[in-house]
Amino acid sequence: MASRVTFIGAGNMAGAIIGGMIDNGHPATDITATSPSDDFLAPLRERLGIHTATDNAAAVADADIVVLAVKPQIMRDVCEGMRDTLQRQRPLIISVAAGLTAESLQAWMGGGLPLVRCMPNTPSLVGAGAAGLFATPEVSAEQRDQATALLEAVGLVEWVEEEGLLDAVTAVSGSAPAYFFLMFEAMEEAGVKLGLPAETARRLAMQTALGAARMAQGSEFPPDRLKRNVMSPGGTTERAIEHLEQAGLRRIMADAMEACAARAREMA
Ligand code: NAD
Repeated sequence: MASRVTFIGAGNMAGAIIGGMIDNGHPATDITATSPSDDFLAPLRERLGIHTATDNAAAVADADIVVLAVKPQIMRDVCEGMRDTLQRQRPLIISVAAGLTAESLQAWMGGGLPLVRCMPNTPSLVGAGAAGLFATPEVSAEQRDQATALLEAVGLVEWVEEEGLLDAVTAVSGSAPAYFFLMFEAMEEAGVKLGLPAETARRLAMQTALGAARMAQGSEFPPDRLKRNVMSPGGTTERAIEHLEQAGLRRIMADAMEACAARAREMA
């Protein structure tokens, strides 16, 4: 039997995961989403056929899995409002909220619940996400599999065995879509300087990123080997790569990602 899953919050992240679950065959009638406003709920109800509710505590009363998908600033009130029902029902809790620790979430929900923290990223909205997951000791092997299946509906899932490593996940994938968007901007600007129309440069850069990622994902070789395969001695690619290395691209990435992880630690 499919699990009964309740999403607390019915915004971008909840909508993306629910859409992916239904595409993967999870029955819509076993999914509920909550929000105080019907503006968020009506499209999900009408487009996907799931249940919707405005009372969080009532909506988790018979859930096997509860996904916490509200903004971090209101999470405390939301968790405290469901506390008694969650302690009675003891579902698997999955939090997709950025920066809220298992310790805080457990304290707000009364403690001792099986809890998975997930650090997703925005490409989940187009089914190409990358998420890091961490489980508290209360989570069973079966519940880990359930969390994996649920998040795989919108992309890649990687487990980490220490909660602190979610800060590294934030640096490598959570915040990383923006690194690539910056790279697209820079490549477009440089393409324009070389004489291309902006739209042409943008489309070529994006398609090349997509192609490089697909090629690397499907390859038995590491990125270094793939890079060398495109670099003929004395050729154009070699000239560009030498320039990027000499300009310190690796150091820039390391510094940026360290700063990102440090900020994630500060915010926790
Ligand atoms: P969103 O604003 O799109 O959705 C929030 C939802 O919560 C809305 O449906 C709103 O009506 C609902 N809500 C507000 N108050 C509520 C309450 N008291 N009870 C129940 N529902 C309530 O936000 P989002 O972008 O989907 O983000 C949700 C969570 O996902 C956040 O914690 C965020 O940190 C995390 N996250 C989002 C992304 C992303 O790509 N959007 C990426 C990483 C993490």
